[in-house]
Amino acid sequence: MQKLYIYNTLTREKTIFEPAHTPHVGMYVCGPTVYGDPHLGHARPAITFDLLFRYLNHIGYKVRYVRNITDVGHLENDADEGEDKIAKKARLDKLEPMEVVQYYTNRYHKAMDSLNVLPPSIEPRASGHIIEQIESIKQILDNGYAYESNGSVYFDVQKYNQDFDYGILSHRNIEEMLNTTRDLDGQNEKRSKVDFALWKKASPEHIMRWPSPWSDGFPGWHIECSTMSIKYLGQEFDIHGGGLDLMFPHHECEIAQNTAIEKHRVVKYWMHNNMLTVGGQKMGKSLGNFITLEEFFTGSHKLLTQAYTAMTIRFFILQAHYRSTVDFSNEALQASEKGLSRLLDAYAKIDKISPAASSSADIKGLRQKCYDAMNDDLNSAIVISHLFEAATTINSAADAKATLTQDDIDELKAVFDLFLFSILGIQDQTKGGNSGNYESFSKAIDLLLDIRAKAKANKDWATSDQIRDELAKAGFEIKDGKDGSEWKLK
Ligand code: ZN
Repeated sequence: MQKLYIYNTLTREKTIFEPAHTPHVGMYVCGPTVYGDPHLGHARPAITFDLLFRYLNHIGYKVRYVRNITDVGHLENDADEGEDKIAKKARLDKLEPMEVVQYYTNRYHKAMDSLNVLPPSIEPRASGHIIEQIESIKQILDNGYAYESNGSVYFDVQKYNQDFDYGILSHRNIEEMLNTTRDLDGQNEKRSKVDFALWKKASPEHIMRWPSPWSDGFPGWHIECSTMSIKYLGQEFDIHGGGLDLMFPHHECEIAQNTAIEKHRVVKYWMHNNMLTVGGQKMGKSLGNFITLEEFFTGSHKLLTQAYTAMTIRFFILQAHYRSTVDFSNEALQASEKGLSRLLDAYAKIDKISPAASSSADIKGLRQKCYDAMNDDLNSAIVISHLFEAATTINSAADAKATLTQDDIDELKAVFDLFLFSILGIQDQTKGGNSGNYESFSKAIDLLLDIRAKAKANKDWATSDQIRDELAKAGFEIKDGKDGSEWKLK
């Protein structure tokens, strides 16, 4: 098995990945809060952890990948204040909250499919785990790290910090937090302003509510992830991922809750993808630089000079290491678009190279160089740079400026199939579908073009025209050249 090194945000070290129960791996990633169209901010964590999921599977692990849907309890303000984001959207659109949840969950899934993000093994919803969340809160109360106040339950951060270490992930200390946290409404219910809600009593107008031992109310945002990750992955599991913006307070609170429930560390490796900026600025609705994925796919946003395919977006994200920041601009996306078609064009040329008795290029080390990059904390950027070098070799060989043996040609094809298509998850969308489907699909079209060539040679113009016209109707563009016909999807 490959030796994979990953950067653990908790220890701030790159260490070898050793799951608790090899070959089984438990992996939990914070999913979307479903109250709006999926945007760029959703694409990066989804693609980052899709890369990890694909790679772990490839190197022989059996991964149980849990990615949740937050459909209750995520308030407008992370300090437990304001309206529930989903309830607010339901009120504005005059919909039942679960209609909002279903609608945006479907939109999210559709966007993830376009980006070729594989579905997780389990996708639990917070609203489907209210009973389990109440049980977690009871355990935290029983263990002495929470208190009830006026029908709500709060986590007692200072009590917890006496026994454990609050701030261990984000490297904050309580004194600093006490000095920097703002005073907010509802403060009088809390013993300390650093405490956070596990259960909130619902106000009369609050529509998303459930009965509990403390009040009719709803769970706090952080408790869903502790509860559902432990339920599906056990009291100790391997990887917890998410965007860097979730490190505090969300993941810090998760660690405190987990430890208050289990009295030991639950998550072995914490992994965080870095943020995306647009034109150097943080994405935000008020800044006018908030671009949904659909707007990218259709080009319908004032900041976009053209439409970009889902694969251009995916490739662009993978061209940066997941712990680096990424800045979106039209220029950068156009460069990715060009880079991706350079790789796909090179791949298409591999079969056309005539094998030679000896190679003028060294292909032997390519596969291992790609593995080494992936093993170094999933460095997809370096993998892509190796594929670019390989593309240069392919182009030279196709132009008869370099020679390759049949073994080297086969190896180049195998490395592209494995790293570009299977691990990086790129699809050639101009040719329809992923590379696996494409093989059979492409063979069928080539067969039709062979029949057409034979018909032409026999001066059977009726058959030749029929094949060309029917393929054109089905959306294919056929180009007749001196070496036969070429096709692509229009
Ligand atoms: Zn979460």
